[in-house]
Amino acid sequence: MRFLQQESSGIWRACNLFSALEGLALHEEYVLKKNHLIFLFVLACMALIQFTERGIYCPQADVYIDPWLPVDKALITHGHSDHARWGHRHYLCTHAARPVIEYRLGHIAVESVHWGEPVYIHGVRFSFHPAGHIPGSAQIRVEHKGEVWVISGDYKTAPDGLGEPFEPLTCHHFVTESTFGLPVYRWRSQSEIMQDINTWWQCNQAQGKTSVLIAYALGKAQRILSNLEPSIGPILTHGAVENINEVLRTQGLRLPPTQRVEAALNKHLWPQALVLAPPSALNTPWISRFKTASIGIASGWMALRGARRRRAADRGFVLSDHADWPGLQQAIAATGAEYVYVTHGYTDIFTQYLRQCGLQAQAVDTRFSGESLDVPEPETEAP
Ligand SMILES: [Zn+2]
Ligand SMILES: [Zn+2]
Repeated sequence: MRFLQQESSGIWRACNLFSALEGLALHEEYVLKKNHLIFLFVLACMALIQFTERGIYCPQADVYIDPWLPVDKALITHGHSDHARWGHRHYLCTHAARPVIEYRLGHIAVESVHWGEPVYIHGVRFSFHPAGHIPGSAQIRVEHKGEVWVISGDYKTAPDGLGEPFEPLTCHHFVTESTFGLPVYRWRSQSEIMQDINTWWQCNQAQGKTSVLIAYALGKAQRILSNLEPSIGPILTHGAVENINEVLRTQGLRLPPTQRVEAALNKHLWPQALVLAPPSALNTPWISRFKTASIGIASGWMALRGARRRRAADRGFVLSDHADWPGLQQAIAATGAEYVYVTHGYTDIFTQYLRQCGLQAQAVDTRFSGESLDVPEPETEAP
């Protein structure tokens, strides 16, 4: 395997001890906490995984996981653009994630593996396991000399019937996101939300309105699609959604029939149709072509009333491809990990909470973002 034959540049990353101690001085509450000092020391100098300016790094194997700056070897958890970036020399991902990654990044040197298939790089054992976030999304397990890390990328614990369900993995060190790491985020079941969406579509139809539903083009759109009731009416798509549908259908994903929105061909269907479009279509001429329409948004952020109002949506459906507050707790508890590293989302608040629960938790800087519509917005209203 070419990915494995590359010679390691072999340099142990310059340790971050200095900056860690500098940060420590700013937070006197930690100064006397011996455990935390040891934890930072391990993190900075001896860790199997380090957090560097290029991304999450395994010095022993000289590979990065979802790096944000160009590197020689990148292991990729999934095809979202904040995780699978252009510019690396070699990519490794699952067979399931590969077609979308290739579609998005064009001609790249990529190899892929089965779920759970071990890959050894300079003695370090890597394997990919379902993260339940979108079809093909993986957590990456890293093992060396008895020490186990799991880098979860983005994950969702509730099964969605579309992608591979989240696989709990035990480890010593767990790297978690915290996109929805506040107690206010608790998802209702997918079937209830889908019922709401189908009912909204029928009500709009009765008034001759097009139902335009905004959902992220990779993952969310197909999850909705596979749960819509196709007998209600025609399902139309924005090109960004349909392109991903085509890639996933080629992989064998079963989705109901869809057609691209094209005025010349299907304008007569619009009043009856549900149209799936990505967030980038909001407030554009593309969307204003539907003269009489109801705009819905499917996102975890719709749990906040203000977010819906600011986006000028008529309806918000609280549907996320990320774990909610209970999901994050369950996932972290199931790992049995003593050390938890919190990447994107409500990192500081969530880290603080985990420490109160007795874990050695640390917020780490990354360039990952949350789900689409994605930046947590300042919320002035009670949710
Ligand atoms: Zn993602
Ligand atoms: Zn992400």
